[in-house]
Amino acid sequence: MTSPIAFTGHDLDRDDHARADPEQLAALRARDDARLVALDGVMPRFDESGLLFTDLSGIGDDAELVYLGLRDGAPLFVAVPTEGDLRPAITMRETMMALIQLPATEVALFGGARSIADWHARHRFCAQCGGPTKIAKGGWQRGCTACEAQHFPRVDPVAIMLVEHEGSLLVGRGLGWPERSYSALAGFIEPGESIEEGVKREVWEEVGVRVRDVSYIASQPWPFPSQLMIGCHGFADSRDLTIDETEIDDAQWFTRAQIEDAMVNGKDAQSFIPPPRTAIAHYLLQHWLEKTA
Ligand SMILES: [Zn+2]
Repeated sequence: MTSPIAFTGHDLDRDDHARADPEQLAALRARDDARLVALDGVMPRFDESGLLFTDLSGIGDDAELVYLGLRDGAPLFVAVPTEGDLRPAITMRETMMALIQLPATEVALFGGARSIADWHARHRFCAQCGGPTKIAKGGWQRGCTACEAQHFPRVDPVAIMLVEHEGSLLVGRGLGWPERSYSALAGFIEPGESIEEGVKREVWEEVGVRVRDVSYIASQPWPFPSQLMIGCHGFADSRDLTIDETEIDDAQWFTRAQIEDAMVNGKDAQSFIPPPRTAIAHYLLQHWLEKTA
């Protein structure tokens, strides 16, 4: 059975009606059961029981907090890190190792909190006039104090795709990846493109293969910092590859048996090392194996 997609499945009531109401936000912030997601920079803090939370005592009225919503009826916030807070003691590798131990709901909760806190920390100044911005709408907006422009949290769409030809799949490896690791090709959707057009362009640019009949499979919010991974599938009519070595290290067609070997045996596979469980590419490969079983 396919495993759930990492960073999905949060258990928050996002309570968006409260966001625009300063009095309601202040009342939520003043509640005894209000909690903050504890972060180290924008990385998670956790122990063996899961993510750590703190109460709001000691948090000044002027501290920038994002209202994430209600969790089991209790208001949950995340603090916007100040510049000095943005150097976590924990590395990305340690973060991912920790996250795979946590329940799916907490991974999703951390992902959302991290992404929005990081957006605020990187958008203290207006992109339109350079003036200072301040938090608005419970943290789901920033407003420029000089020109009054409104800025909204970014989500950056990335197409990630499996390309199929007569029962084999095309996968690639990025520059500098660990040896023998392969994953689905991917790239940012550009302005003026549909998802389908983005899929076709990326595959053509990276490996010189024409793709048709693109379909959507599933998506994943990737919080480092704010990508929305849009998992797709398409068909090719040829296996001829022209690899753009400035973009990727290699791409190869693998048979269904080779893909099954990778997904079952992981690092010990004969064929290639598959993407980690936290990546949507892992889900896409699993999904394809099930669908073609
Ligand atoms: Zn401005």
